[in-house]
Amino acid sequence: MPELFIDGTWRDAGDGGSREIRCPADGSVVAAVSEGTAEDALAAVRAARRAFDHGPWRDTSALERAQILHRVADLLEAEKSEVARRESLDTGKRLVESEIDVDDIVGVFRHYAGLANADSGRVVDPGMPNVSSRIVHEPVGVCALITPWNYPLLQTSWKVAPALAAGNTFVLKPSELTPSTSIWLMNALTEAGVPAGVANLVLGSGARVGAPLTEAPEVDLVSFTGGLETGRKIMAAASATVKKVALELGGKNPNIVFADADLDVALDYALTAVFLDSGQVCSGGARLIVEESIHDDFVDELVRRAEKIRVGGPFDSGAETGPLISAEHREKVESYVAAGLAEGATLRVGGRRPDDPELDKGFFYLPTILDDCTADMSVVQEESFGPVLTVETFGGSSPDEFEDRAVEIANHTIYGLAGAVWTENAGRAERVARRLRHGTIWINDYHPYVPQAEWGGYKQSGIGRELGLAGLNEYRETKHIWHNTKPAAQYWFGEPAGEGA
Ligand code: NAD
Repeated sequence: MPELFIDGTWRDAGDGGSREIRCPADGSVVAAVSEGTAEDALAAVRAARRAFDHGPWRDTSALERAQILHRVADLLEAEKSEVARRESLDTGKRLVESEIDVDDIVGVFRHYAGLANADSGRVVDPGMPNVSSRIVHEPVGVCALITPWNYPLLQTSWKVAPALAAGNTFVLKPSELTPSTSIWLMNALTEAGVPAGVANLVLGSGARVGAPLTEAPEVDLVSFTGGLETGRKIMAAASATVKKVALELGGKNPNIVFADADLDVALDYALTAVFLDSGQVCSGGARLIVEESIHDDFVDELVRRAEKIRVGGPFDSGAETGPLISAEHREKVESYVAAGLAEGATLRVGGRRPDDPELDKGFFYLPTILDDCTADMSVVQEESFGPVLTVETFGGSSPDEFEDRAVEIANHTIYGLAGAVWTENAGRAERVARRLRHGTIWINDYHPYVPQAEWGGYKQSGIGRELGLAGLNEYRETKHIWHNTKPAAQYWFGEPAGEGA
């Protein structure tokens, strides 16, 4: 099947090779796709450029764009099981998780349908007669949208929906490991009424088809979600032509538990925070920072419960969490655990692959807890992106010192994506939440997000925001139009020549 979607038609890729997409739960081949070349990526860019410069899309009304986005949401609802099935086969995540993801994606398309006409500009007082002055928003132009494998269609929707709502055209490059739902999306966009050339898709590796998108002069904006190292490369590549860049990068997210928290609930959520989707969640709570007076009981109980977590494939209804995305990724997680142990952490549970022979062909790794960690360890500082919880403690000689110490440890990271604080003391909750240098803070909760609220990172977790109104503004330029309705010569530089001169 052709896998390049350019100018409204499916085309065969150039000689970018082919790739078997394997389900991470058992290694079975679930799809085979042919990948594009750099030339294919540039052909997609040219199509998006033409559609932006000459097509009708940028001038369609906000109402029409909103209707199209609602139609995409309708299609997602109608085909929810098929989309969720594809997502689970590519990622290995539990079907129930993929179904929740599809519900979230519907919400994202409807959110941006509602926002398509939001803040459509304003009139500014020019401070003089016969002049009108106003601010208008316009689409940025051609967008390169590059997405990761952990929430393939959800991350894609966070970019595609606002890009379309604002009137842009785009080239989408999904992760090479999880292309199936992007293929579905292109057909859905066409069915919903997106004109040819507005939405384009190229498949392939980052180096082969991603990099050319970030370098092409015809691209105005790159929106990327993925790892820090890739983000750095993309920022550098985009600098040559000073593209707008939005980066949603990694996180190493603190989950702080004070002794005055509701400890049963805090403990339950500490497990979900890190072991959901085997820890392959950018905002996962991989750093537990617990008050020293409750450390022993709290961690003993965490270990007892983590030991019982059932891992399994996407269609195993008894499974509580799934596999890692690939053999290479599992090796990376294993190397972080080994490094943590070498640096002095204590392995309390997990730290190995499961024994069950039925899981042998998948890339499973057991929920792991490393105790006695300190903030400088690589397993604490770097993103293992696996089911690995590190435990640090804090103490002090006064309530203020407790808070200071917890905040200091939690902020000791180059990342700043998300985090949580657990305490029944409302004042403490507010104080700590405001002092944490992370883009989302949950108080007595972990993980929920709503499309109405902005999402994004402090520090090296990224640039720009997704979702909310700021997510739409990433895809809009803002123009000031000054209209002098009665221009009159001022003769600053000499008098005009008189008649007959
Ligand atoms: P990755 O950086 O390896 O790849 C992401 C995408 O970039 C893929 O499509 C890849 O092919 C492409 N790519 C790679 N090199 C490129 C290059 N030189 N030029 C252009 N494109 C290139 O990330 P991943 O392993 O797919 O995803 C996991 C990472 O994503 C984690 O770090 C996670 O924290 C992060 N993430 C962040 C958020 C967030 O909201 N901040 C959300 C989800 C995932």
